[in-house]
Amino acid sequence: MPDIIKLLPDAVANQIAAGEVVQRPASAVKELLENAVDAGADDISLVIKDAGKTLIQVNDNGCGMTPMDARMSFERHATSKINNANDLFAIRTLGFRGEALASIAAIAQVEMKTRPKEEELGSCLKIEGSKLISQEPCQCKPGTSISVKNLFFNVPARRNFLKSNTTETRHIIDEFIRVALINPGIAFEMIHNDKPVYKLQKGSFKKRIIDLFGKVYQERLLPVEQKTNLLSISGFILKAEFSKKTRGEQYFFVNNRFIKNAYLNHAVTKAFSELLPTDAYPSYFLHITIDPADIDVNIHPTKTEINFKDARYVYSMVNAAVRESVGKFNLTPTLNFDEDPALTTAFHSRPEGEVRPPEIHVNPDYNPFDTKKSIPQGGPSAGFKPKTTGDKNWENLYRHFESKVDGIEEKPVSQQEMFSGQPEEKPMQEPGRFFQVHKRFILTNVRSGLMIIDQQKAHERILFEKYLEQLKDKRHPSQQLLFPKKVHLSPADRTLLADMKEELLNLGFTIEIKDDFTEVKGIPGELKENLIAGTLESIVENEKRESDKPATDRQTRLARLLAAQMAVKPGKTLTEPEMAELFDKLFACKVPETAPDGKKIVGIADIHLLEEFLK
Ligand code: ADP
Ligand code: MG
Repeated sequence: MPDIIKLLPDAVANQIAAGEVVQRPASAVKELLENAVDAGADDISLVIKDAGKTLIQVNDNGCGMTPMDARMSFERHATSKINNANDLFAIRTLGFRGEALASIAAIAQVEMKTRPKEEELGSCLKIEGSKLISQEPCQCKPGTSISVKNLFFNVPARRNFLKSNTTETRHIIDEFIRVALINPGIAFEMIHNDKPVYKLQKGSFKKRIIDLFGKVYQERLLPVEQKTNLLSISGFILKAEFSKKTRGEQYFFVNNRFIKNAYLNHAVTKAFSELLPTDAYPSYFLHITIDPADIDVNIHPTKTEINFKDARYVYSMVNAAVRESVGKFNLTPTLNFDEDPALTTAFHSRPEGEVRPPEIHVNPDYNPFDTKKSIPQGGPSAGFKPKTTGDKNWENLYRHFESKVDGIEEKPVSQQEMFSGQPEEKPMQEPGRFFQVHKRFILTNVRSGLMIIDQQKAHERILFEKYLEQLKDKRHPSQQLLFPKKVHLSPADRTLLADMKEELLNLGFTIEIKDDFTEVKGIPGELKENLIAGTLESIVENEKRESDKPATDRQTRLARLLAAQMAVKPGKTLTEPEMAELFDKLFACKVPETAPDGKKIVGIADIHLLEEFLK
C-alpha cells in the first residue's frame, strides 16, 4: 500500500487554524486591537465598513515592525511575545500564540503598513489568502496600520454563515468595548461606514465606563477595591436597582484580558443576593490582577477563557469584594419590594436618574398634551366618560385606567361607527354585564355559560394588532412633546436604535440620534412621558436578546414588546364601560383567543360545568 499521509501546505493549514481564531469579523477586530495594545500604542483607531465584511482597519501608534518582522508576523506560530513553553506562565501580553495574523491573512486580502519610530521609511505588505503579493518600502507614520478587506473572500461557506450587518456590527462593538474598557490609558476611536461611533479620550477606568455606557453611569457606579498578597480586585459594580434584563454589562478582566467565567459571575450575583430583582442580572466591571503564574491563559484559541490555579480563592475574594461594596454603599436599598403589582411589568426598567413617580393622579384635563393626542381613526369614545362628576372615586379609577389603556380607545369597533364613519355615542353598558375578579379577570355571561377573560392578555392582543398594523401601513400617530426629552443610551445602543428608526417612527416615536444622547420628540399616544427612557431601554435590550433568533421578525418583536409594556396590568380596577370596551375590541381582533406570547386569553366555563360545580 502506498503512503498516503502528507503535510498540508501552509496556506491550507492556516485556513484551518483560521476556522478557530476568526469566526466572524469581530474576531479579527479583537485580534488586531489586541496586537495594537501589545505594541504599546496609546492611540488606536478602528475603521469598519459594512459590519467588517468589506473592511476592517486598525491603526496604531505603537512600536511598529522592521521589514523583516513585518514579513515574519504573518507566519504561523510567529510571535515576539514568548520564547519557550515556560513563558506561557509569565504572560503579560494579550497575544502569545502567534497565529492571529497568519489566520487572518489566510482568509482575507490584507495590507499592512508599519514603521518603527526610529526608522525613516516603513514597509508596505500585501497578502491575499496567505500569498505574499508585494512588499516594498513606503512612507508612513510610526506605528502600524492593517487593513483587512473582504473577509472570507476565499471561503464562501463561511461568508454565508455571517449574520445581518446589525448583528455583526454588534459583535464588533462588543469586542471594541472589551478592549477599550480595560485600557483607559489609550485613546480609542471607532468609525463605521464613515460615521464616528466612539471617540474615547484617555482617562480613568470610571471615565472610560461612562464614556462607553453613558453619562448616567456617573451616579450608578459603586467602587470595588480589594487587595491581598495573591491578587487585587478593582473596578465598579452597578447599583442593584439599575441591574439589567440582559447580561449586557458583565465584565471580568484578568491581567488586562477580558474573560468569560460563569463561576466568578456567580460570585458577584451571590454577593448582591436579595438586592437583585429575581429576573435581573448584575452589571459589573471588575479587574483582577494576579501573578501570571497563578493562571493558565492557554486553554482556548480565542483566549477568553482561563484557568485559575486556585479558583475557589478567587471566587471568595470576588464575592467578598463585591459584598463589601454593596454593603458599604447600598445602605438604604432603593428597591421597593412592595411595589404596586401594576408596575412590575415584564420589562421593568427604570427611567434613568429619576425616581419613578407614583402612577397617575394627574387630572388629564390639566394636561395640555392630551388635547394634541393624534388619533389615527375614529375618535375617543366620548360616550365612555361618565357624564357626572359626582362619583369622585369612579373618576379617579377611570383616570388611573385611562392613562394606561388609551390605546383601546383608538380604533372604531362598532358596526355603526364603521358604516357611518362617525364615532358612535355609546350607551353605558347594562349594569352587571361585566364583572371583574381579583382585578385580573373579566367575567361575562355568554350563551353557553360563563366567559373568563384575562384583562392583561386581552389588552396585549389589542395593542399588538394595532401596533402591527401601524408598522405595516407605515402610519405613525405620534404625540409630539412640547419639550423634547433627552435619553442617555450608550453609543452601541444608539447605533441599534438608529437602525430601528423607521419602525420606531411608525410606532409613534420621533427620535433624533445626536452625538452623545438621543432626543425624543414624539411618542406613542399611550406612553407616559416618565416611561420614555425605560421603554427605549427595553426596546434596545429586547432587540439585543431576540435579534439572533430566526423565528421572529423585528416588526413582530417590537409590536409584542410595546404591547406587553403598555397593556393594563393585573391589579388595575376596571370600570364597567372599560371592560365593555376591552371586550368589544378584543373580539374585533384577528386572533382574539391567544395573546401575542401564545398564552390563552379567553376561556368558557360551560353552564353544565357550573352545575357540576355545585353538586
Ligand atoms: P501574537 O499576537 O500572538 O504574537 P499575531 O499573529 O497576532 O501573534 O502577531 C504576530 C506578531 O506580529 C506579534 O508577536 C508582534 O510581534 C507582531 N505584531 C502584530 N501586530 C502588531 C502591531 N500592531 N504592532 C507591532 N507589532 C505587531
Ligand atoms: Mg496577536
